[in-house]
Amino acid sequence: MREFSVRPEIMEFDPYKPGLTIEQIQAEYGLETVIKLASNENPLGTSPVVQKTIERNAARAFRYPENHTPRLVEEISRQVGVPEECVLVGNGSDEIIDMLFRMKAHPGRDNVVCYEHCFSMYRMCAKLAGVEYREVPRGKDFALPLDKMAEAADENTAMVIVTSPDNPTGQVAHVEDLAVLAGVLPKDCLLVVDEAYVDFTWPPESYTPVQAWDKFENLVVLRTFSKAYGLAGLRVGYGILPPALMARLKNARIPFTVNLLAEEAAIAALRDETFYNETLQLVMSGREYFADELKRLGCRVWPTQANFVMFQPPKNAMDVFQALLERGIIVRPLKSFGLPDCIRVNVGTKQENETFIKVIGELLRG
Ligand SMILES: *Cc1c(COP(=O)(O)O)cnc(C)c1O
Repeated sequence: MREFSVRPEIMEFDPYKPGLTIEQIQAEYGLETVIKLASNENPLGTSPVVQKTIERNAARAFRYPENHTPRLVEEISRQVGVPEECVLVGNGSDEIIDMLFRMKAHPGRDNVVCYEHCFSMYRMCAKLAGVEYREVPRGKDFALPLDKMAEAADENTAMVIVTSPDNPTGQVAHVEDLAVLAGVLPKDCLLVVDEAYVDFTWPPESYTPVQAWDKFENLVVLRTFSKAYGLAGLRVGYGILPPALMARLKNARIPFTVNLLAEEAAIAALRDETFYNETLQLVMSGREYFADELKRLGCRVWPTQANFVMFQPPKNAMDVFQALLERGIIVRPLKSFGLPDCIRVNVGTKQENETFIKVIGELLRG
């Protein structure tokens, strides 16, 4: 077979490793029922209201969507309380992350500052964009190292990225500390706060800087419909950006990356308060249940403001992961995050949560 050359950056690329799917595990272990608690998806599934909306719009799939999804932008602007000129919708917030790396950072010159054990997309996008990736060490118990990030930023730092709540540790940054960080960054450097899990914080105003978006000149906030809104499969997320930057990115982006059904579904999801509130309730009680039960089983458990819990079992984490898999429960081992002793498990339905605790209890006691 003929070999073709590709850009040197992608010759030996470290691919993104997604969580395993239910179908893969059913086939591999001959299991009928498999519980997936590995990708931080919504335990309630897709809202019935949103499902109806998708069905109602199915016949329109032959049309191109409206470029830049103006109706969704309007709805986000109203709900979040920021001007439409600040809102950029993407094919998942991953698309916005990718756009920021490709369009804000200068290849071969700029760097981006993150911290260790963070979401792997940032490193991946940096590599692809030809941008230096700087990772600063974290504080005790994985505290988010905002001071060290400020120290690591220089005149060639295009952005500093904080995930809050953090994946996979569940840690959060407080809004006052984010404001301090934003204030000390070099003039051309953005503070990007990836708020994929912000819906699950309480109270949100202590954590998200979005309310004061007009007091910051260098703030970018990223949000997604993949977690609390249950639309991971449709791929919709958005960024809130300084308007001048937003206008530049919008001009240069690929058209129509957000599809017509995704726009309709996201609008319906934003209006479906009942489903959203039920999700939050389930997640908040579920994470407490997990923390209590896992501690009782001798695990080390870190506090979390997200829809998942990170824990260290008293036995080898990879063995525990594998044994759970064979019993039809998929969780996320954190070796690829540089945390080989830890596991991340997301909150499921009440019944899924109880099954998980029962099965891991048998494994850890046995
Ligand atoms: C899930 C997640 C996202 C959201 O990704 P989408 O592309 O919107 O599905 C972004 N950042 C982090 C840290 C995440 O865990």
